[in-house]
Amino acid sequence: MDKVMIVTGGSRGIGAATCLLAARRGYAVCVNYRSDREAAEKVVASIREQGGQAVAVAADVASEEQAVALFEAVDRQWGRLDVLVNNAGVLERQMRVADMDAARIGRILATNVVGAFVCAREAVRRMARSRGGRGGAIVNVSSVAARLGAAGEYVDYAASKGALDTLTVGLANEVAGEGIRVNAVRPGFIYTDMHASGGEPGRVDRVKANVPLKRGGQAEEVAAAILWLASDESAYTTGGFIEVAGGR
Ligand code: NAP
Repeated sequence: MDKVMIVTGGSRGIGAATCLLAARRGYAVCVNYRSDREAAEKVVASIREQGGQAVAVAADVASEEQAVALFEAVDRQWGRLDVLVNNAGVLERQMRVADMDAARIGRILATNVVGAFVCAREAVRRMARSRGGRGGAIVNVSSVAARLGAAGEYVDYAASKGALDTLTVGLANEVAGEGIRVNAVRPGFIYTDMHASGGEPGRVDRVKANVPLKRGGQAEEVAAAILWLASDESAYTTGGFIEVAGGR
């Protein structure tokens, strides 16, 4: 049976590129999404047209109940799990910390941190050798914002990615003996819809001159790093980070 990968937030942007590349590499792919069903079904249709296996599963990872149901849907569909890509992430309108309220900060942390923790937990419960699993890989999609801080834009988002980085290192050490590797990618400015959520759809083009490679990145370039960390080619890498940020 083919290896099975869950990609949270797999319907658009970096997640969608990851699903498409994973299917080309032979994974059966669970395309998770929160609300945009049409986008998720488009990714699934494209994978099936090329002879791959995919299923779209709606679940808001910020809800523990829905995140658990996501993994149970994959249990029913394929009965195995080899890779989790913790990709779902949100940010909100650019704003200074002085203007943020607790509700906003809570929404960012609920998806980007709590959601990633709960999904990682569900993956470990299925992959851990001591629990009858066959091992596996978890790839967290962090951001260079974790080390740069996103001042004046979204420090809450940057801090959530800092927490994700700590989860990556801590969990990697915790489950190394269980046959599970945990790594992260840190993208820089990537052309996706996410910047529109921050209120500036053209953000990548505004800031690209500050990137040493003088351009924004493509979702497919991040997907390639994720797929390497998911694969056996990175068998000796855990608790590690790949920056896909043009040198920023
Ligand atoms: P995007 O284009 O805005 O897509 C976000 C995806 O996440 C969508 O599929 C969305 O589904 C899903 N999603 C959002 N909240 C969710 C939730 N609570 N539960 C389940 N799915 C959820 O974003 P992107 O730019 O590809 O970003 C993907 C990841 O890369 C994020 O973690 C982001 O922080 C990180 N990243 C991006 C950049 C960049 O420049 N784009 C840079 C660094 C890091 P729906 O459409 O159904 O809501």
